[in-house]
Amino acid sequence: MEKVSVNTSQYFQIQYRQSNKKTAITMQINLPFVSTKYLPMTGAFLQAHNPSVLRTQCFNDANLPFDIEVKETELGHLFEHILLDQLCLSEMSKGAKSSTFSGRTSWDWQKNPYGMFEIWIDIGKEQLQLLMEALKKTIALFEKLIFISLSQSHTNAAPALSYIRA
Ligand SMILES: [Zn+2]
Repeated sequence: MEKVSVNTSQYFQIQYRQSNKKTAITMQINLPFVSTKYLPMTGAFLQAHNPSVLRTQCFNDANLPFDIEVKETELGHLFEHILLDQLCLSEMSKGAKSSTFSGRTSWDWQKNPYGMFEIWIDIGKEQLQLLMEALKKTIALFEKLIFISLSQSHTNAAPALSYIRA
């Protein structure tokens, strides 16, 4: 499967490849941290800009609801949840009575570079247009979250940056 790049920002890169039934998204984070722990306004940001993502279902080890899990989770996992929610919102806005998508995020930083996530979504080639629409919105939200967090939370983010680089 051929990889297609859709976003190259200073914070992260997104590529995807598709089969008939699935999409694999590769996300490379270009930050010295990979957890929402270092973006302490994540919950408030989502509440303001995309509240429905806080109610998405999450299957995590600790069985935490996503609005709790979101305070300390991998950035790739957050990206997955926002994308799933945006897929549902896009599909509903086109008249669907209900919409369900599921996904899974994994990483292996022994094998791949630090900050690389692989996100699998159960959406196939025939829904590429819907995927692009949701992906575009997800990328914009994610960029905004990181930008606002880094410019507003100097006290929280700055020590974290130097600590992780050390
Ligand atoms: Zn989850």
